[in-house]
Amino acid sequence: MTTFNELGLSLDIIQALTDCGYQTPTDIQAAAIPCAMKGFDMLAAAQTGTGKTAAFMLPSIERLKHHANTSVSPAMHPVRMLVLTPTRELADQIYSNNNNYLKNIPLRHTVIFGGTNIEPQKAALQQGCEIVVATVGRLLDHLSQKSISLNKVEILVLDEADRMLDMGFIDDVRKIIKMLPENRQILLFSATFAPEIRKLAADFMNNPQLIETAPQNSTAESVEQHLIAVNNWQKKDLLEQLISGLNIPQAIVFCNKKITVSQVTKELLKRKIAAASLHGDKSQSERLQTLADFKAESVRILVATDVAARGLDISELPFVINYELPLQAEDYVHRIGRTGRAGANGVALSLVEENEQKLLDAILQLTSQDLKLEQIEGYEPSWLDNPLNNNKKQSNKNNGFKKIADKNDPASKCEKIPGRQRLLRGRKREICALLLPNYGIQ
Ligand code: AMP
Repeated sequence: MTTFNELGLSLDIIQALTDCGYQTPTDIQAAAIPCAMKGFDMLAAAQTGTGKTAAFMLPSIERLKHHANTSVSPAMHPVRMLVLTPTRELADQIYSNNNNYLKNIPLRHTVIFGGTNIEPQKAALQQGCEIVVATVGRLLDHLSQKSISLNKVEILVLDEADRMLDMGFIDDVRKIIKMLPENRQILLFSATFAPEIRKLAADFMNNPQLIETAPQNSTAESVEQHLIAVNNWQKKDLLEQLISGLNIPQAIVFCNKKITVSQVTKELLKRKIAAASLHGDKSQSERLQTLADFKAESVRILVATDVAARGLDISELPFVINYELPLQAEDYVHRIGRTGRAGANGVALSLVEENEQKLLDAILQLTSQDLKLEQIEGYEPSWLDNPLNNNKKQSNKNNGFKKIADKNDPASKCEKIPGRQRLLRGRKREICALLLPNYGIQ
């Protein structure tokens, strides 16, 4: 197994990694670090939760540290590395990782994102800062107010470039790249590579090295996935049943709309489950507070829109629940990537109602998976057992559904037991706990 030492990182960085509890590089780190350290432009396809932040930060810190200095003069600390992210949460998370990675090295760093007062950010930039993590919009604000200069940037990282594309930032990104010196390194990280991203790479990158450690659009093997068929009107009850019955310690519950997030949160609170909501209409300080409460475990269930699908790193989050399937199949990969991070085991449960069959098809196709729909006793959906429906399903070859197994053989409907594998290890499983009253919990 490769070590950080073998990747060419110096001892002060390795010491910081040891303090973070990192023992060996992840696959993406092992592949990307030597390549980026040599100064190549890089196109990296990395799944969420694979350690991609360190994959671009560590080689960059290694390169920047040669001119690191303790001078108090701001002129001695120009912006030499710019990390662009699609969301404030992701920017904030990279910034906190940098706090750890940089603790033995005199490189200054800061983060700039919208929704918060711009003045303290200006003050930090004025002091001089080698590494700036920024969201696109707020960086443009600083550029127009001339509070940042990019003419000394040596390294640009575009993190979650596919998300930037989805959010309509790609033209702004192009504008920003044009402000950089000709001689710079670009490291582009993305879970998926749409044609526009390839075009961006072709236009601005110099012989980029392709780094791929997992197949595109694949879901991490460490995440056990279940699709649970249910009637729409029973979703809230089933959600509560799953949380209480499986004794879920913490989970993110994803919904597509802010209004659904609010309704589900309200419902859970009414049922005495400590829940909080996270979506784009919340102020930045509310969002950060909610995340802090969730990380501190005073909130058990975080109900969120896709604003939380990326950039959130809650270590060892055991469960992700899709209350609704995402409208974009790619978001399924990102959502369930919130669990099973850095090799930990996680479970993703998706509640699927009749109207969501097309979304399910798209997800199964994108992820090349063959997952069966499961049912839970007491919540069997009327639409799945309806013979008319079954006929319709069979006539549609691409709908991704497996015929539900013999009704008299409930064990065959579900092969695994979400979240209870450890409890049952070594015991013969004859029936899926999902189908047992109270899910088999005594
Ligand atoms: P990322 O994909 O960068 O969001 O990282 C996901 C999680 O993995 C974060 O909690 C990192 O701190 C953690 N991590 C990154 N690299 C390693 C490593 N080599 N060993 C253990 N954990 C890591």
